[in-house]
Amino acid sequence: MIKNTIKVLSAVTAFAACQNSDVEKVMEGHLGFELSHIDSSFSPCEDFFMFANAGWMQENPIPSTEARWGSFPILVQENNIKLKTLLEGLSQSDKKLSKGEWKQQLRDYYTSAMDSAKVEELGLTPLDEIFATIQKITDKQTLSSYLQTAVKEQLPKPFGMYVSTDSKNSEAYALYISQSGLGLPDRDYYFKDDEASLAIQKAYLELLTDLFSMMNKENPKEIAQQVYDLEKSIAGFHMNRRDQRKPELTYNKKTVEELSALIPSFDWQLVFGDLGVKVDSVIVRQPEYLVGLESLLNNTSADVWRNYFTWQTINQFSDYLPSKWVERHFAFYGVHLSGITEMKPRWKRSIEKLNGGFSETLGRLFAETYFSSESRSRVEKMVEDIRAVYRERIEENTWMSDRTKKLAIEKLNAFKYKIGYPDNWTDYSNIAIAADDLIGNRRRISAWQFADRLARLGKPVDKTEWFMGAHIVNAYYSPSFNEIVFPAGILQPPFFDPTADDAVNYGGIGGVIGHEFTHGFDDQGRKYNSFGNLTGWWTEEDSLRFSERAQRVIDFYGRLEPIDGYFVDGELTQGENIADIGGLTLAYHAYQKHISRTGARTIDGFTPEQRLFMGWAKVWQSHATDAYLRKQVLTDPHSPAMYRVNATVSMLPEFAETFGCTPQDPLVITEEERALIW
Ligand SMILES: [Zn+2]
Repeated sequence: MIKNTIKVLSAVTAFAACQNSDVEKVMEGHLGFELSHIDSSFSPCEDFFMFANAGWMQENPIPSTEARWGSFPILVQENNIKLKTLLEGLSQSDKKLSKGEWKQQLRDYYTSAMDSAKVEELGLTPLDEIFATIQKITDKQTLSSYLQTAVKEQLPKPFGMYVSTDSKNSEAYALYISQSGLGLPDRDYYFKDDEASLAIQKAYLELLTDLFSMMNKENPKEIAQQVYDLEKSIAGFHMNRRDQRKPELTYNKKTVEELSALIPSFDWQLVFGDLGVKVDSVIVRQPEYLVGLESLLNNTSADVWRNYFTWQTINQFSDYLPSKWVERHFAFYGVHLSGITEMKPRWKRSIEKLNGGFSETLGRLFAETYFSSESRSRVEKMVEDIRAVYRERIEENTWMSDRTKKLAIEKLNAFKYKIGYPDNWTDYSNIAIAADDLIGNRRRISAWQFADRLARLGKPVDKTEWFMGAHIVNAYYSPSFNEIVFPAGILQPPFFDPTADDAVNYGGIGGVIGHEFTHGFDDQGRKYNSFGNLTGWWTEEDSLRFSERAQRVIDFYGRLEPIDGYFVDGELTQGENIADIGGLTLAYHAYQKHISRTGARTIDGFTPEQRLFMGWAKVWQSHATDAYLRKQVLTDPHSPAMYRVNATVSMLPEFAETFGCTPQDPLVITEEERALIW
């Protein structure tokens, strides 16, 4: 089935190289994708994802320790192997590291995570202090005191509290309060009644029963059911994921008095006093949730709350406990919920622990060795190319008024970017990290991080801050900072390869850059202005025209069904889909601009444009377990990988033209279906 022939492409005319190649050096390195990954039994116009990737899928089954496998997880694994070597180097080095030095902290946290003998020896004792706090809950008063401690010490609680930029004033920090408190990934998991969902609910209840039984609780089955029922009630008050995407719904500024009126059982003045913060107002993401939580605080008995917090504590620290706890937890969350059959080796799980809380420091270790300034300048160039193309496309856009266009261009010009790793590193030196205290380390880091955020209230916003470690294989757009960020972790093959052909780099990291730019103008990002403030800068008519187009995206993706009975949620995924369509369009045209300066020719039978689309398909080269796909469509705002290729390319007339597709081909859609926004 794997063929290296690319005859199917030969009908397409090659792009003629232009003359002024003295302007820039022609970059035609190696191809950037493997011909053996192609399966030409698929036509690119019928199923481009399979055409580009089926050969790879055949040769690369999903490993038993993974729920999905492909470009992203493979690069994550490669970065983790590099980190492992660096971390082991720290342990083996003769160099003395003093307490509080960042390398000492990384070394000792990693050591504590790797020391399985110590973890087994301690059993559940590192959690005794938390359990003792929970046991003090006997009535509403003591429940309120527990919640107060839980806020400060970052213990499990049915609401979240965090400090972030005020969405309507990007120059100030605000305190946010949000819904939380579930053990299953989303509210819908408690209410869906199809066969797979019922099986998950049953297996989850069995997990709770087993864990209570392992803790020698009396009537484990009964208390598991009570905890499950409480979670289900909490879930019933949760705002669904679709509404959570609407920034205007989740921005509810309340005075402390108004907050207290929503949930009077909880003494907020006392909590803020205890935390040492002075706030006049907070932003409540889901006010109705707090009203619902108030009724649960009043109507649920103290013993059910105690059991609920006990389970939530075990859940929060599940991977920090002796193996019998880890294994029981994995049997549900890994095997049942994600379709993974074997646990990852301890070193990988240890790096994941460092990622929670010490991600920046881990990125520092990575970036020290694995990032070059040459990569930074190449990517900067691509960012500016894409910005220029976006500007032209906004100017030529036919559905926006001149007024909104002008403001959109202002916003585009104001976009900032960060590439590689932060200029400044956070000083964590006063967090005590010990080589023999895994759970203590984790708790001290969480408490420190929370206190650090609280201390920012009332101070100017630190615009140099990164929200992702430098080793992470991902990128982001921050609406409040109006900024796109590309960590060193993703600036590697197959996303970016300085030695590869430019076409695949534009299709790879170029598409990723275009995707992040487009987030600034998707259904959420467009509501923030050039200063990063949530404000209505669109005319009503332009807003309406945007929404009409977005609706086409919602409808088109909403018809896709990766698993029987489980459809892509067109509304939940619209922002990511808009970003994919816009991102690939921008990358395509930026590449056209680029080759108009440098020239380009056909390589191995592929035209430059075909190689660009192959670059995009390579980025999304992956496959996943059914359980993963089911979870993905219920909870993830990103569409499954095959649609990020096929649905995206079918939206681009440039794709059909590049591969010579005809109107009869499956990936060629009608003009009514086409949802080109940018
Ligand atoms: Zn995105």
